[in-house]
Amino acid sequence: MPKVVVVGSYIVDLMCRTPHIPKPGETVLGGSFQMGPGGKGGNQAVAAARLGSDVTMVTKVGKDVFGEEAIRNFQKEGIDISRVNCDEKEATGTALIAVDQHGENMIVVALGACGSLTEEDVEQARGEFADADIILVQLETSIEAVKKTIELANEFVKPVILNPAPYQEIGEDLLKGVTYITPNETEVFALTGIEVTNFSQAQKAAIKLTNKGVSTVIITLGRKGCFVYDGTDAGRMIAGYEVKAVDTTGAGDAFNGAFATFISQGFNLDEAARLSNSVAALSVTKIGTSVSMPYKEELDFLKD
Ligand code: ADP
Repeated sequence: MPKVVVVGSYIVDLMCRTPHIPKPGETVLGGSFQMGPGGKGGNQAVAAARLGSDVTMVTKVGKDVFGEEAIRNFQKEGIDISRVNCDEKEATGTALIAVDQHGENMIVVALGACGSLTEEDVEQARGEFADADIILVQLETSIEAVKKTIELANEFVKPVILNPAPYQEIGEDLLKGVTYITPNETEVFALTGIEVTNFSQAQKAAIKLTNKGVSTVIITLGRKGCFVYDGTDAGRMIAGYEVKAVDTTGAGDAFNGAFATFISQGFNLDEAARLSNSVAALSVTKIGTSVSMPYKEELDFLKD
């Protein structure tokens, strides 16, 4: 059972269906409401836990009903909540989502408590870092928390995955301590200025990132799968799985939670990437983010 420490966001998704996206000042009636756990950190933690990882979540929630719901949800997934701190002032992270009948959406995110994760919050998890097989962090929190996460991982000589999503400016220095970086097409463009539209562009972008000190680059490419590069050869495309996609939100989160699990279980880079493609493909066949993460028992039909 790999031990995975996830440092990142928890956000509650408040989703309303609407006949149309409201204009400024307009009130629209006639929608249905759904609430669910979200946030890139939380989603990736759930993905890893459902695949059999022993996961500790490092995040912050507010002293409110959504915070209590977050704790209950992590516990239900078997995730260790001893490093989920409670912020006295900030509310639990919230996403207000309106989706119209064509699937078009409008989203407002208030990061709240998880956006103000501090260096000290991460430092408190030192013991968990020491025991971990791998560390997983995204950019949906404060940069100081991301920086501290990479520092602690390096101090204990543990591999660290940086999922640079959603992209925000990070110091180049930070990349030196990153073992695996997992940008999608938008994020790799933000990081390197290279539009990855073919193999040679993927290669160029990956080389640029390894030159900045990252050990291994995995560029996720939607239904096409991903490109992997560890500097030892030209890099490879690992093909995605063909499925009937109904909701691709959270695909990257499924991929990252899965990759942390499989690479820690001893699969090589290509095999871990292939298995992660299969988990992410399965997740897009269901509606929702956290709730659509597959359990390891569901993977058999995708294995070859
Ligand atoms: P993000 O969700 O962060 O934008 P991607 O769109 O690159 O990231 O998707 C992440 C991974 O999810 C891909 O590498 C692939 O394995 C899988 N995936 C995404 N969309 C599909 C799809 N339509 N069909 C099959 N697999 C998909």
